[in-house]
Amino acid sequence: MKQFSTISDLRYFLASGHKKGVSVGFVPTMGALHEGHLTLIRRSKAENNLTVCSIFVNPIQFNNPEDLEKYPRTLSRDAKLLEENGCDVLFAPDNAEMYPPEKKEPFGLEFGMLDKVMEGKFRPGHFKGVAIVVKKLINIVQPTRAYFGKKDFQQLTIIQNMVHQLALPVIIVPCETVREKDGLAMSSRNMRLTIAEREIAPTIYQILCKAKEKTGKLPVRELKEWAIKKIQENHLMRVEYFEIGDKETLMPLETWNFKNRAVAFTAVFLGDVRLIDNIELFS
Ligand code: AMP
Repeated sequence: MKQFSTISDLRYFLASGHKKGVSVGFVPTMGALHEGHLTLIRRSKAENNLTVCSIFVNPIQFNNPEDLEKYPRTLSRDAKLLEENGCDVLFAPDNAEMYPPEKKEPFGLEFGMLDKVMEGKFRPGHFKGVAIVVKKLINIVQPTRAYFGKKDFQQLTIIQNMVHQLALPVIIVPCETVREKDGLAMSSRNMRLTIAEREIAPTIYQILCKAKEKTGKLPVRELKEWAIKKIQENHLMRVEYFEIGDKETLMPLETWNFKNRAVAFTAVFLGDVRLIDNIELFS
């Protein structure tokens, strides 16, 4: 596996492949890799001639400085895992490489309500930061396909919207959420959970599954209230939001009229670790 930390070196390496029409799969990540990320890498490998993974803890998408500081950074372990999983190229730039201090980021994209609800409401500026870095990384790598997890459903929707708005020449490939055996969605943040928190963390997905069973049987508002109460029965957990939204517009639903497009989304604090998860209710 080749490893680059500068844009020019990566571009130089990719140029000959691009000229020959080689298909490039791209998996952008923030590192601390787990099976969720590696599943994306393997899918990219199966569908493209060359797979590029980026590892960059993007400072401008963190609205909480402590969360940024505590974000796990395990680059040498990650590089080994990527190598073992057949990744061809690792791009791991530093902050100065991605955000030269003398340049301001021009950005005129508007996402309407997509970045105002749920994660967008509780993490102001987060999706603008995500969109900037993903746009920039796509410009650098010029992939044929880019792979994103449904674990971050709202992020995936916003990226799809950006690619559509800007007519970026890339295919966005949505990938199913990879879970631990007990149902907990894999996340780099899971490693920050205490033993007690890790033990109860799967409750989040269990309640999402129960909410799916109850879909259509209770009014939307009652189902949300039930889920919040159920999660918070465990005093280690605090629900930031539990929302049922339209799969495409992400707008909160008040009735089941759009039931075939409903997704339940939640963000839950366990101590100071914030976990998100979601489930498609009518899939
Ligand atoms: P991150 O490093 O958390 O920014 O994630 C990088 C990519 O991996 C994003 O597209 C995520 O949605 C995806 N991802 C993270 N966790 C999972 C998971 N458990 N299952 C599937 N995809 C995931």
